[in-house]
Amino acid sequence: MKSYPAAIIAGKSYSGNAGLEVLDPTTGAAVASLGEADAGLVDKAVIAARAAFADGRWRGLSVEARQKVLRSCADALDAHADELADLECLNTGIPLKQIRERMVTRAAYNFRFFAEYIGQQAGELYEQHPGYLTMVRQEAVGVAALIAPWNAPIALGSMKIAAALAFGNSAIIKPSEIAPLGVTRMVEILLGAGLPEGVLGLVNGTGILTGAALVGHAGVDRISFTGGTGTGRSIGAVAAANLKPVTMELGGKSANVIFEDADFERAVDGALVSIFANNGQQCLAGSRILVQRSILERFLAAFVPRAAAIRVGDPRDAKTEVGPVISEGQRQRMLRFAEIARTDGAKILVGGAARPGPGQGGGFYVDPTVVLTENHDSLLCQDEIFGPFATIVPFDDEADALRLANGTSFGLVSYVWTESLPRAMRMQEALVAGVVWVNTPMMRELRAPFGGYGDSGIGAEGGKACAQFYAREKTVSIPRTPQPIERLGLG
Ligand code: NDP
Repeated sequence: MKSYPAAIIAGKSYSGNAGLEVLDPTTGAAVASLGEADAGLVDKAVIAARAAFADGRWRGLSVEARQKVLRSCADALDAHADELADLECLNTGIPLKQIRERMVTRAAYNFRFFAEYIGQQAGELYEQHPGYLTMVRQEAVGVAALIAPWNAPIALGSMKIAAALAFGNSAIIKPSEIAPLGVTRMVEILLGAGLPEGVLGLVNGTGILTGAALVGHAGVDRISFTGGTGTGRSIGAVAAANLKPVTMELGGKSANVIFEDADFERAVDGALVSIFANNGQQCLAGSRILVQRSILERFLAAFVPRAAAIRVGDPRDAKTEVGPVISEGQRQRMLRFAEIARTDGAKILVGGAARPGPGQGGGFYVDPTVVLTENHDSLLCQDEIFGPFATIVPFDDEADALRLANGTSFGLVSYVWTESLPRAMRMQEALVAGVVWVNTPMMRELRAPFGGYGDSGIGAEGGKACAQFYAREKTVSIPRTPQPIERLGLG
């Protein structure tokens, strides 16, 4: 069984505390062992990152030189795309095809995007004052602590690393202990692509030990966190105590609102993919499908048989559409929600049970599940389930749809399906969500911010949003000609 390091600091691997097991969700068997970085190793990582920042070996480079390295990072990820996809698939159970086509490609694109972005940045110059020129410059901030979740480790981790580094910072990433393999290998590949020593580090281990040591470290200047809302609250408290700016990409319970005037076929396709892609484990999953009552029967007749026919199986098989969920804990969570459906009087239309995996029958497999409920106060509609589990709720009219769509503590994404432009415009304005997708499932425009309202987060990721977070502004005033200065102390 291969061992993965507890840390990579200034290009050197450290084994740290021994013994975390990394599992293959298709079998439940351990496939790797992971070292754990304790507070001492985290301290070492921060010191190395600070040293790299302090001497300007990265932030002091010309923008062209930094762009060149970022592009070579992208090329290196492309060159290792198959290897990274295989590793991510082994560790997460997400279908290989989805990882290869979307996530690994996206990882390389993240580096290319930020390489281009920094080439277009400009400062500001204020000339209104007749005696002074005042300029606003952007400067790198220092060391960024990047905390990534297990559901899309390479895609989300690469976004954080590319953004933090592009603006001249040093960065230390901590992947989830459940799915560290792809990110660890990605960091090794990036370090081989020309990043100066110490600029990028990695620490592995549990959230409560390694993650907490990193976010609480006084040498960290920014914290970028993607994960659950509960974890976000505790990291937010630490960040507040240390006065460290933080972005939080947290959970969601996104409404997918389908009106009777929608393009029906596209709405059904969109609803299926937005809840069942990535094994349903997506913050942006359209997990609450709100359907206008007048088309409910037609919708169920189209959606439910397709959900039942989803090909669940080995994620390495190109035909597989949904693989196992990430862990036994996550599987039990799905089953608990199926139980809630039974006790809350919801109707389970399909699924609701664990299922044996293919081959030897092990692994964390569950049925893709669809429930129908009128009770929007139920946990089925209020809690993020984070698996292949769709909850359908009927609504009567636009006002009803809005009331339901906005009726949770989350506000990450909302989907709207309607062929009426005025209705689409009314809905996008009234929906309480950081992102609204009209007549489309996921559309990630990296130039635009992606971030949630309410319990879905603070701040956002995207071109300008990252520039504002990973760079700070400095105001410099210079007299055009010597300006009068009041002369003190002359008697
Ligand atoms: P968690 O909140 O459990 O963990 C996220 C990361 O935080 C992991 O690396 C975890 O480490 C670490 N962590 C846990 N506790 C601490 C702590 N006290 N201090 C520092 N780090 C800590 O989330 P999951 O990994 O379970 O991911 C699923 C969640 O992520 C879902 O709620 C999902 O909605 C959300 N998410 C949000 C996205 C968005 O863009 N809004 C995108 C993707 C996911 P470890 O796992 O090793 O304990």
